[in-house]
Amino acid sequence: MATLKLEIVTPDRKVLSEDVDYVGAPGIMGEFGILPNHVPFLSALGIGNLHYNQDGKAYYVFVSGGFAEVSNNKVTILAEVADKATEIDTERAKLAKERAEERAAAAKEKIDHIRNQAALKRSIMRINCKSCGQDAGTC
Ligand code: ATP
Repeated sequence: MATLKLEIVTPDRKVLSEDVDYVGAPGIMGEFGILPNHVPFLSALGIGNLHYNQDGKAYYVFVSGGFAEVSNNKVTILAEVADKATEIDTERAKLAKERAEERAAAAKEKIDHIRNQAALKRSIMRINCKSCGQDAGTC
């Protein structure tokens, strides 16, 4: 079966480089899917969970910001932050979620709501990514 190369890098590290069957990623305009031999494509990334299929299994990676580029049968994800499901600390994400919810609830406090919404979304997506990663196939 035809495959495509998936590379995920951040400013700090190479997160993964794998031959895969399919990539689904959170573009800022919505989810998009890439099969082998896709036409060239470029999209900015939002906050969410990328997944890829390999040998009949699904794998999940949290990504936040950056770009996805498809060319020459290769998907390059240049993400600001990327965490494989196996790397995510759920307790840390739950604490981040609580902090964001508390900030949003403190009506008197002047906060940057856009920044807080992004922090909340990162925490929720990380929790979701971890649970998908542990229960692949049901997400
Ligand atoms: P926190 O408030 O917990 O730092 P955050 O959403 O502000 O969360 P980011 O700015 O997205 O964090 O990421 C900063 C760094 O921390 C990145 O290297 C990221 O991989 C890591 N990181 C953040 N949250 C987690 C988590 N729950 N598990 C593992 N690594 C995390």
